[in-house]
Amino acid sequence: MTTCDARTNELAANLGRVRDAIAAATETSGRAPGCVTLIAVTKNWPAEDVRRLAGLGVTDVGENRDQEASLKHAACIDLGLTWHFVGQLQRNKAASVARYADVVHSVDRPALVSALARGALAARRRVGVCLQVDLGNDPASARAGVAPKQLPELANQVVGYPQLELLGLMTVAPLGSAPLPVFQRLAQLSAQMAATHPGATMISAGMSADMPAAIAAGATHVRIGTALLGTRGVTQVT
Ligand SMILES: *Cc1c(COP(=O)(O)O)cnc(C)c1O
Repeated sequence: MTTCDARTNELAANLGRVRDAIAAATETSGRAPGCVTLIAVTKNWPAEDVRRLAGLGVTDVGENRDQEASLKHAACIDLGLTWHFVGQLQRNKAASVARYADVVHSVDRPALVSALARGALAARRRVGVCLQVDLGNDPASARAGVAPKQLPELANQVVGYPQLELLGLMTVAPLGSAPLPVFQRLAQLSAQMAATHPGATMISAGMSADMPAAIAAGATHVRIGTALLGTRGVTQVT
């Protein structure tokens, strides 16, 4: 990969802007420089872009579909990246995801925990887990995520499996509501969980559109796709 192709230049410019925005939001919030990890969400973009981003210093990438993710992981195995699975996960894909994902952000139900644990055991790997919390206030909507009151039970289930590591919480702010209170609620739930599970301090929150609010509320990991890679994803793998 040469560093002078147009796409690399475009990604470098985008990455510079995203890093500046993360640094600005971190400073404005009075948080320590470097306390927020950027996850580049590369879904719908080819493995070449993952390689370009790695060349520019990106260490963490996120994907949301198993087949696409597993092929890209295989194509980029030499890069030593940390792979995050951020999309809704079906139970029958859990074993596949457990073979390459370092962290699964979207764990939201008991059957998925046990399927992921079986997959991790079979793959002889330890897989990091974030519990995805549903913070929408519309009880009728079938959104992904566990209800806050069911978090303690799900967390206890995860820590019962030595091949899973409970890392923290994740949410996607519901469309059409102000993101800051949602992310503040997630931070509150995170503090409550850390009282019982002191290692589980990861807060995965914030996408291209709501990243500053997430950082203000205490996000440790932001998941950025569009602002880094652009809006017109090319689905290389279907
Ligand atoms: C696609 C996706 C992102 C990135 O969203 P952008 O708005 O493109 O930054 C983050 N989190 C999840 C769960 C996603 O599916």
